[in-house]
Amino acid sequence: MVETTKEPTLIFMFGATGDLASRKLYPALYEIYKKGNEFAVIGLARRQHTHESYRSMVDRALPQGADRRKEFLDRFYYQPLDITEPENFARLKNISDQIDTQYQLNGNRMFYLSLAPRFFGVAARNLKKAGLTETSGWKRLIIEKPFGHNLESAEKLNHDLLEVFDEAEIYRIDHYLGKEMVQNIEALRFANPIFESVWNHRSIANVQITLSETLGVGDRASYYDQTGALLDMVQNHIMQLLTLTAMEPPSRFEPEDIRQEKVKVLKSIRPMSSDAITNQIVRAQYKQGVMPDGTRIGGYHDENNIDSDSDTETFVAARLFIDNYRWTGVPFYIRTGKRLAAKSTEIVIQFKDIPNNPYLYEFNHIGPNLLVIHIQPDEGLSLKLNVKEFGEEGETVPIAMNFSNNVKRQADTHTPDAYERLLSDCLRGDSTNFTRWDEVAFSWSLTDSIVAAWKDIPLDYYEAGTMGPASSDRLLALDGFCWWPLTRME
Ligand code: NAP
Repeated sequence: MVETTKEPTLIFMFGATGDLASRKLYPALYEIYKKGNEFAVIGLARRQHTHESYRSMVDRALPQGADRRKEFLDRFYYQPLDITEPENFARLKNISDQIDTQYQLNGNRMFYLSLAPRFFGVAARNLKKAGLTETSGWKRLIIEKPFGHNLESAEKLNHDLLEVFDEAEIYRIDHYLGKEMVQNIEALRFANPIFESVWNHRSIANVQITLSETLGVGDRASYYDQTGALLDMVQNHIMQLLTLTAMEPPSRFEPEDIRQEKVKVLKSIRPMSSDAITNQIVRAQYKQGVMPDGTRIGGYHDENNIDSDSDTETFVAARLFIDNYRWTGVPFYIRTGKRLAAKSTEIVIQFKDIPNNPYLYEFNHIGPNLLVIHIQPDEGLSLKLNVKEFGEEGETVPIAMNFSNNVKRQADTHTPDAYERLLSDCLRGDSTNFTRWDEVAFSWSLTDSIVAAWKDIPLDYYEAGTMGPASSDRLLALDGFCWWPLTRME
């Protein structure tokens, strides 16, 4: 059962001086604190800080506003610590016990590992060795992606974590699961009978999931060059979007019931076969080109810290099938890439045409019914329909019915950021929007099979500022479809 009470908690912020902590985690904690959550924070990293200089650092990371700011900052403490040195953890035990008593935190502990993944295992081991995980309250571990770099390394990491934490205590973050419109997919599907009754192979022609970026690799070059688009985006974010779109309704809205249905989808994805790989997947890298705003962009090899012979993919498109009753024969097309023409994450559901539709032959302007779920930067829904144009001629024209959160976001109301939702969920013990081990494992099995199968296919190329290579369009043309252009909501 999900606990709904706001229990006082001691938060251990590993990687306290890092980019993620400053950009996302401190602002998120501030919002959560203002909503009445009781906690204290111990910041941990190698750099030297006093409690005061750490509080100033956290202060600089917060948005404008004075509401309870000083009392929030006073709850932050700092201890220099090297993850690899167990004796540092013994000192940490003393200060944690003191803070626990001072704020009456009842032994509840949240360990946030905002660290490079190579430190996850050793951090858990050292926490246990120092007795920090033996506590009178609950303990929870939050870890950032990536969770391993293939199934084997993920299994090893999971094994190390399970020596210290139970599966139910491990919260694996995929920040996409905290996004407003990703959380809305379930509501859209399961609270609207008009959609649920047509959400299957009888009515849906195909599903298109796009996660496109205009940016290049920036200062993540060395990480990205070892990772590539498949592991950086498909194994986690795109698989989450796909499972939420395709899953069966859970019998109850409990975390385990929902996650169970998502796992069933992952299990049903048809494995890649090396024979037909060119009909299933495209991997490509950008070369120089011109972005839509006229900016000239060099190729991937021109980026700082990228080897001139790197064959890392910056674009992946795939044609997947889910072999279950609901989705039999329906292609799910996915694509993601860098230096593409537009920044957008969206899901397009294309509905089947009416059989022998006289309108198709009489009028040219008819288009298929599309439901577009805009995830970012726009947040909302568009439903594309065909209606008779006003007037005597009575031609049919496509129109879009839009529901947009954009205006709400621009207004004064505070819409929680993904990290705020997820931290808040973890403090309440709600694991729905975190990935369970079997989800991670099935997702790695699929990406491992892709990596094994595509070794022999040549890397394709696309110009920066386009929507990827022509081979990506050919994947859909095999089934008589095309990618729908990304649209901005008005
Ligand atoms: P970062 O800016 O490089 O920060 C890393 C942190 O780890 C620093 O606070 C660093 O502090 C600390 N650290 C490094 N070695 C240490 C050691 N031996 N002992 C103790 N602390 C050590 O990285 P980040 O961007 O914040 O990312 C953190 C995690 O979040 C990574 O797993 C990343 O993949 C994930 N992530 C980040 C983002 C993002 O937007 N930044 C987004 C999604 C996921 P000292 O140098 O002071 O020790």
